[in-house]
Amino acid sequence: MIYIHVPFCRSFCTYCDFYSEIASEERTGRYADAICREIAERSGEITDDIPTLYIGGGTPSVLPLSVLERIVGALPPTEWTEFTLEANPEDLCEKGLPYLEGLRRLGVDRLSMGVQSFDDGMLRWMNRRHNGERAVRAFRLAREAGFRNISIDLIFGISHLTDGLWEETLAKAVSLAPEHISCYQLSVEGESALGRMTAEGRYREADEEQCRRQYDRLCRVLSDAGYVHYEISNFALPGREAIHNSAYWRRVPYVGFGPGAHSFDGFRRRWNNSSLTDRSFTEEVLTPEDMRVETLMLALRTARGIESSFLHENCRPDVIDSLLDEGALAEEDGRFRIPESRFFVSDEIIRELI
Ligand code: SF4
Repeated sequence: MIYIHVPFCRSFCTYCDFYSEIASEERTGRYADAICREIAERSGEITDDIPTLYIGGGTPSVLPLSVLERIVGALPPTEWTEFTLEANPEDLCEKGLPYLEGLRRLGVDRLSMGVQSFDDGMLRWMNRRHNGERAVRAFRLAREAGFRNISIDLIFGISHLTDGLWEETLAKAVSLAPEHISCYQLSVEGESALGRMTAEGRYREADEEQCRRQYDRLCRVLSDAGYVHYEISNFALPGREAIHNSAYWRRVPYVGFGPGAHSFDGFRRRWNNSSLTDRSFTEEVLTPEDMRVETLMLALRTARGIESSFLHENCRPDVIDSLLDEGALAEEDGRFRIPESRFFVSDEIIRELI
C-alpha cells in the first residue's frame, strides 16, 4: 500500500489546519523532483501485500498530468487493485474531460471528490472554490470520462447548517448515486481560520444535539438508498468499500511519500516533516500498549468490529459485560462490534474499553 501526499492547495478552507502550500509551477516541479528521489531511496519499503495507491492531500488535482505521470512513473510498475486520487470539483471542471481521461490512462480508477456541500452559501463560508452546480458538473464529467468508482465527501455539524439544508444535501448526494460517501462532523481546529473565528466569538460550535440529529439522518437516508455503513464516517454501495482505507483500519503496513506523509511497518510509525525543502522525519517505535490501543480504536470504528478473543484478552470483563448489557456492544460470529445506533458515541465506548 502506497500513499503519496500532495501538499498543495489553491486556497485554504475555513476549517482546515493541514500543512499545505499554494501551488506554483516552480514549487510543483521542485516537489516532483524531491518525491521521485524519495521513492528511489525508499523503494525497498514498498510491499505488494495489497497493491493500492492513494494520492491525497492537499489537493492532488492541482497537479498537471505531466507531474502526476512523473510521480507514478517513479513507482515500481504495479497492477493496482485500487488507485485513488483526491480531486477538487473546480479543478475537474476547469481542466475538463482531457484531464480526467488522462487520469484514467495513468491508472486512476477511483476519484475522491471534496464536495463538502451542494449549497452555495455553505460552500462560500467554507471558502471552497466550487459552487453546488460545479460539484454536480465535476461529478458528471468524471462519469463521462469513465469513472465507475467515485467517492464524495460531505460535512455536517456546522452550526448554521439547518436540518432542512442537510436533508437537501443528502438528497442531492443520493441523486448522483456515487459508489461511496464519506461524511465528517465539523471539528474546530485551533490553527485554522475557524479556530480563530471561534476564539474571537465569530463562530459558535453546533451543539451535540444538532450533530447527533444530522448524523442520525445521514445514517437513515443512506441506508434507505442502499449504502452500507461500514465505518463511522464511511458509507459504500455493496462491494464498493474503500480497499486502501479499510486496510488502514486493520493496521496493514503502508509506505507514505511526500511532505507530511505517514508510514507504518507494523511496529513503527514514521512522519515525514511537513516541508518542501526539509526531508527529515520522525519515527516512533510502538509499545505493546500503543498497539493494543490502536487496534481497538481502529477496529471498533468499523462495522466489522474486532475478534472477541482480542477484547477478552485486552479489556476488563466487567466493562465488556456492562457495555453488552447497555447495548453499546454486540457480539456475533466471534466478533464484537459497536452497533450503528451507538456509532455517534463510539469514542466514549472505546475510552471505557481502553
Ligand atoms: S481542506 Fe483540503 S483543500 Fe481545503 S485547505 Fe485543507 S487540504 Fe486544502
